[in-house]
Amino acid sequence: MAEKLLEVRDLRVWFPARTGLLAALRGVKRWVKAVDGVSFDVKRGEVVCLVGESGSGKTTTARAVLRLIEPTGGEVLFDGVDVLSLPKAELKRWRTEAQLIFQDPYESIDPRMVVYDVVAEPLRVNRLAEGADDEYDRVARALEDVRLVPPEDFMSRFPHELSGGQRQRVAIARALILRPRFLVADEPVSMLDASIRTQILTLMEDLRREYGLTYLYITHDLAQARYTGDRIVVMYLGRIMEVGPTEEVIRDPLHPYTKVLLSHVPVPDPREARRREKIEIPGETPNPIDLPPGCRFWPRCPFAREECREREPELVEVSPGRFVACHLAGG
Ligand code: SF4
Repeated sequence: MAEKLLEVRDLRVWFPARTGLLAALRGVKRWVKAVDGVSFDVKRGEVVCLVGESGSGKTTTARAVLRLIEPTGGEVLFDGVDVLSLPKAELKRWRTEAQLIFQDPYESIDPRMVVYDVVAEPLRVNRLAEGADDEYDRVARALEDVRLVPPEDFMSRFPHELSGGQRQRVAIARALILRPRFLVADEPVSMLDASIRTQILTLMEDLRREYGLTYLYITHDLAQARYTGDRIVVMYLGRIMEVGPTEEVIRDPLHPYTKVLLSHVPVPDPREARRREKIEIPGETPNPIDLPPGCRFWPRCPFAREECREREPELVEVSPGRFVACHLAGG
């Protein structure tokens, strides 16, 4: 059995940009390169965190991996199977193995359905239950898995009768009921109160151990990635800037963008907070239609030099398991 469950190679998701009338008449086509040549792996049982600001392409990457949007190019291998060339019927079957937990439990659950129906829906859509008793048993088990116990107390409730944390547990139960091997969690706790977040993250970690799950975890928050991930993949404007084991990246970030992100993570220890200087960077993230030549971080990078404006750095392995796309790091 291969060690890697997911292999993403040179993934691209480009959208045609809206251009002015004149450009359209001249036949000028421009693209928003939301994901622009992204490659990474996820090993079995691993949690890989895709980290970046809004507009970095992390969510688009995750959705393209699941083929919820069609990539422009590249390769996605899941357990050796080429996901991007799966015909519709096989794709449907594959999706039972790879599920998505959405950011917003308030929106991802139909408010008119009771919990039982919400959780049973994927079974019904995929015709996987062997009769009503089997369906009931599986729903009950999924609710127990997410610690909504006793399950009978929750089955007939509507979403508005649940707390935010309970709603996200229902969303996780719905993802789990098909017994997937791979879960994409898109900012799964960002809409929840801080006190509930840890409970949900602990639950996800428990489920990973119980069921040998593998996660691709999307977050804008490096502090959360530290708590959750085995490895971190840092994205900026559709490209990967840095990859490495979580503790190493947090302790010794190599890419200037990762350093900036880390400098803004709140530190509970006041002595540590005094030692860690906040790095402010000028300007906004550039428009993805008008990407700067060279390194796409240079307009905001405090360490930019001439070469950075001319040549885009490749993502290179600078030490075992550590990859960086920066000229200063040997790229
Ligand atoms: Fe900064 Fe240059 Fe490195 Fe880009 S390549 S991150 S501009 S130092």
